[in-house]
Amino acid sequence: MNIIMFGPPGAGKGTQAKIIQGKYKIKHLSTGDMLRAEVASESTLGKTLKAIIDSGELVSDQIIIELIGNCISEPECQRGFILDGFPRTVPQAGALDDMLGHMSRSIKHVIVLEVDNDILIDRIKKRTEESGVARGDDTAEILKNRLEVYENQTAPLLPYYEGKGLLRRVDGMQPIEGVTAQIEEILGSP
Ligand code: AMP
Repeated sequence: MNIIMFGPPGAGKGTQAKIIQGKYKIKHLSTGDMLRAEVASESTLGKTLKAIIDSGELVSDQIIIELIGNCISEPECQRGFILDGFPRTVPQAGALDDMLGHMSRSIKHVIVLEVDNDILIDRIKKRTEESGVARGDDTAEILKNRLEVYENQTAPLLPYYEGKGLLRRVDGMQPIEGVTAQIEEILGSP
């Protein structure tokens, strides 16, 4: 079973994807985590990526598509995968369709975590306070930009997946367990 976990920054995609990975034994693929690992390696590419990520803008489609293409063909994705943070643009969604088509695979559900913007800002503040370390892109100003980027470049994918009959809306403002329960209802028993 292949799933896309969709929603704005701070909606809880990563938290839910990790829980679903454990329960359904399908691989969690977070493009944000992969990019942060590249940044941490201090490679030349990592340094270029850091500047883009810290500004709240998106990394080029070409880099991201290659990254995901390499991952989904790995044996650990054989049982299925949960995409967290991908696709984020119309060209990325098109590339995903092409890749899956070549592999005779498909997306079963696009789960959208719906959360009001004020709550997103509070959550990001909390994430910074609890970890004690601010991610370069977790400041109020950058978050505002990330939300705008989401509205302008990523939200247009919602009608695309709605048209394909794949969109499942979830109330992301409930406590973590409540959100997981809604997702499990959509996915059915593991
Ligand atoms: P995330 O942890 O998913 O919020 O991602 C953090 C940052 O990584 C984003 O603000 C982007 O700069 C970059 N990023 C992650 N996924 C993508 C993607 N699919 N396309 C472009 N940039 C991405």
